[in-house]
Amino acid sequence: MKRRPVESQEQEAAEIEPGVLIVDDLGENRRMLARALSPLDIAIYEAASGEAALEIASREKGLVVALLDVRMPGMDGYTLARALRRLPEAATLPIIFISAHDAQAYPNQRAYEIGAVDYLTKPVSARVLLSKVRVFLELYRQRSELQAVNTILSKQTLRLETSAEVIHQIASILDLDQLLKEILSLIRAQFGYCYAGIWMLADDEETIVLRAGQYGTPDPIVEPGYTIPRSQERSIIAQVCRTGVLYLTNDTRRDERYLPAEELGAIQSELALPLRFGDDVLGVLDIQHEALNAFLPEDVSALQMLADQIAVAIRNARLYAEVRRLNEELEAQVDERTQELETAYRHLELLDHSKSDFITVVSHELRTPLTLIKGFSQMLLNDPSILEDPERHREVAGIVRGARRMHGIVDRMLDIVRIDSQTLQLNYSRVSLAQLLETLAYLLQDVLRERQLTLTLQGLGDLPKIEADRDELTKVFGELLTNAIKYTPDGGEIRIAGQVLAERRQERRDYVEITLSDTGIGIPQNAHDLIFTKFYRTGEVTFYSSGKTKFKGGGPGLGLSVARGIIDAHDGQIWVESPGYDEAKLPGSTFHVILPVDRHIPDRTVLPAEVDPDSYSDSNGDIHAQT
Ligand code: ADP
Repeated sequence: MKRRPVESQEQEAAEIEPGVLIVDDLGENRRMLARALSPLDIAIYEAASGEAALEIASREKGLVVALLDVRMPGMDGYTLARALRRLPEAATLPIIFISAHDAQAYPNQRAYEIGAVDYLTKPVSARVLLSKVRVFLELYRQRSELQAVNTILSKQTLRLETSAEVIHQIASILDLDQLLKEILSLIRAQFGYCYAGIWMLADDEETIVLRAGQYGTPDPIVEPGYTIPRSQERSIIAQVCRTGVLYLTNDTRRDERYLPAEELGAIQSELALPLRFGDDVLGVLDIQHEALNAFLPEDVSALQMLADQIAVAIRNARLYAEVRRLNEELEAQVDERTQELETAYRHLELLDHSKSDFITVVSHELRTPLTLIKGFSQMLLNDPSILEDPERHREVAGIVRGARRMHGIVDRMLDIVRIDSQTLQLNYSRVSLAQLLETLAYLLQDVLRERQLTLTLQGLGDLPKIEADRDELTKVFGELLTNAIKYTPDGGEIRIAGQVLAERRQERRDYVEITLSDTGIGIPQNAHDLIFTKFYRTGEVTFYSSGKTKFKGGGPGLGLSVARGIIDAHDGQIWVESPGYDEAKLPGSTFHVILPVDRHIPDRTVLPAEVDPDSYSDSNGDIHAQT
């Protein structure tokens, strides 16, 4: 469908010829009036009857004034005037009545009442008539001009409103292809052009690519993806892209720059606007129309405003696409790393499993011969012949000590495997920690004396008996105590203290806390957690010493790991505090062990603060539920 350019519609309105309607039953009178008006550049419509006059009035758009004879056969002038007022086309048509010179004042009055603007009596003076009609003609011209200006203004307002609407919509779209499609649909829907396309300068800045196009025809002529070299001399798109200056023609046949593309058919107007962002031209908005003079100056400025906004939106969409691409890249990298980590973790898990299996097998295999060595060497130690020979006795005692130590290590390795596989079984009984620690102190008294270390036990008598596995806890405190001995130089102090922690951690059960402090070499801050992991030792492996209680006699790094596993199984906590490692200043270390007094959390008793609002308490403080 061809659109008639707005301009020509307005021209047409302006070009409607103004005319005068003369109604009189006598032809001679009509001709006389027509002659009087001949100096005016105006069309004359003559009607011999009211009916003929109505027909003309409803057909002719440019009537400036009607001259009605009052007295006519059939429909008289007054009746005709009322009928004209009812016609939408003539509702405001100025009417001048013409009557015989003997007419009374009364009909004159009546004429004004029914809307006459003037009243002339015959014989009509040609000069007077001419001047009166000239006034109406002038009024008509002024009104027409005003209307034309008004039409332009309201169209411009509409255009600005539609541009604002388009701008508002495009500002919210971030996907570039969707954005361009939306823009073109909006341009076509709101401005009604038959082709609109958005060309964008490619990243290489050598070619211009059609990113999106909308056609009035069902078959697209140029598909998106079509390219033009930016340097192409005669291409209007390339020119606009190179220069950043808009191209406009309202008559393609008269424009030498216009290269008619056969396929485009009968394009008669074209507007190509640069999509500018700062000094850069990002592309071109190209609009074509089949009609002549399709683009009014107001259209051009509204569309240029739109093009500027499109450029901003393209820029935003590009930035957004870039951010999205980076995000996707990052996500892909994170996925890849996670995958790698998972694989590594699975591999480690497998290794850990095989290692645990290996430790179990080896420990079991070692345990049997070790038990034999331990038993027989112990027997040998008490053999009278060995007892008599101090040299051999010392050697056999060495074998006994070594076998015991190896036995201990094998046991700890088996503990580790049990803790790791969560198969550590606890045999609960009521345990007196005071008794347990005093026994340990007693067993270690020789070593303590040998190393001139003072061991103090404090506040243990006040501790309640706790529900725990005595043997496992003996291992834990044995480990902590031997470590304190090992890492405290001769002459140092070891202090064990106990206290009750009532209803710790909001739980309704009591805990006991044992702290074991020494005046030893201390532990570096960064190793406070690591020392509880298996096989971790702060010292060099070369420090490894077979002496179980020798100063700095490092072990295999299993003791604290086993201790934590056992404490965790008791639902307790173990950690260390130490200012740091310093062999000269001896800052010391304090190990904390917290254990619940009871194995299970006792049943919740209703406390006043938690009384149900629907219940009440009586004077004895007993709580009753309300029914
Ligand atoms: P190890 O068999 O080496 O003693 P543990 O698991 O018992 O293994 O201890 C781990 C590491 O923690 C030790 O190698 C030692 O460096 C450090 N450590 C443990 N207890 C103390 C302590 N009381 N003072 C200083 N360092 C300690």
